[in-house]
Amino acid sequence: MKNLLAYNTFKINSTCDNLFEFYDIAGLKLLLTSYGSGVKVLGGGSNVLMMTSHFDTIFINRIKGIQILDENEDYCLVEVGAGENWHQFVMWAVYHNLGGLENLALIPGTVGAAPIQNIGAYGTEQQSSFVSLKALNRKGLFTTVFENAVCEFGYRDSVFKNELKDQFIITHVTYRFDKKPIANNSYKDVKEKLQSKNITHPSIKDIAETVIEIRSAKLPDPKVIGNAGSFFKNPVISKSAFENLVVNFPDMPHYLVDESFIKIPAAWLIDQSGLKGYRKGDTGTHINQALVIVNHGSATGEEIFDMAMHIQKVVFEKFKVTIEPEVNIW
Ligand code: FAD
Ligand code: NAP
Repeated sequence: MKNLLAYNTFKINSTCDNLFEFYDIAGLKLLLTSYGSGVKVLGGGSNVLMMTSHFDTIFINRIKGIQILDENEDYCLVEVGAGENWHQFVMWAVYHNLGGLENLALIPGTVGAAPIQNIGAYGTEQQSSFVSLKALNRKGLFTTVFENAVCEFGYRDSVFKNELKDQFIITHVTYRFDKKPIANNSYKDVKEKLQSKNITHPSIKDIAETVIEIRSAKLPDPKVIGNAGSFFKNPVISKSAFENLVVNFPDMPHYLVDESFIKIPAAWLIDQSGLKGYRKGDTGTHINQALVIVNHGSATGEEIFDMAMHIQKVVFEKFKVTIEPEVNIW
């Protein structure tokens, strides 16, 4: 029996009977043939809450490699193994002055998980540089290429969280980088931090370094305290629902998604519900970041899930807005 403590950033003490790493498609096919299509697949375990105390079989993605497929003076197409560490890949691109993903520096996890929830931060989502991915069908053992348009990327969302959930294992992802990159400093925190450093014309390296500084100062490090980043997605509500809500909460921060929908920061809703830094037993919300549920020591997956449901209920009672988990519940 294997312990999974080191394989999930929430530091949940679940176990499994079989734990295998795969390094290429052939190895993955062999494992699927032996253990069946219903196994669990992990990258870095930074977006999973293990509610189940014991699993049968877990595969860990270790497919590595960064390969330039095509380039000209304007762009560079790069295929990367899904088991590569996301942050290291971003920094590889920054080192080669390839622009597009630098605002996503220091996001934990693997490249293969990035398209699944279309990771985003500081004004960028991976979809804006994403070209395609290769994935192995769990049951048929055939490889399919998914181009950007068919991935149905949305806010922390893709087809792999919906219709194709648990049907494919992503093995490679291709990104298109800009060789004449224009730094994106539109996000308030990034802009202010650059100003404080007197950087008026930031390079993509400046952006990556600034994002790393902001994140390191603000976000709880899973090496120090168990967590999976933002537990909930920011709710997106209709304009009419927003107009009703803002009458009672005129200070509510909000961002226009399009002409019909508005995004409300879930962290603000939790904070206003009196739950920032709330603790019960070994779980609660982080003292500086209400959206992050933490494991103070030996919380179980169930205790963390109960905490999440409590937060969801209290927020709903106050605002009549439902906040949905972003984290995958296993
Ligand atoms: P895992 O947790 O291992 O897996 C997540 C899900 O994807 C699971 O359901 C798993 O089965 C599935 N999966 C993983 N790999 C594959 C594959 N190759 N094929 C098919 N399915 C697969 N997210 C953001 O969007 N923005 C942020 O700014 C951000 N900041 C974070 C900060 C912290 C401190 C933490 C802990 C998390 C943060 N996250 C953020 C969440 C997380 O880092 C991302 O979702 C990341 O992409 C998860 O990668 P992973 O390899 O750890 O995925
Ligand atoms: P923040 O800057 O305090 O902002 C709170 C929320 O407001 C964010 O979630 C962000 O939405 C939204 N927001 C801020 N400025 C915006 C703008 N100009 N346009 C649209 N929306 C805006 O957030 P934070 O907690 O410090 O996080 C900083 C960034 O890192 C955010 O992008 C956040 O998504 C990302 N992050 C994500 C995770 C995760 O696990 N998913 C964990 C930590 C940080 P968005 O979330 O849509 O950007």
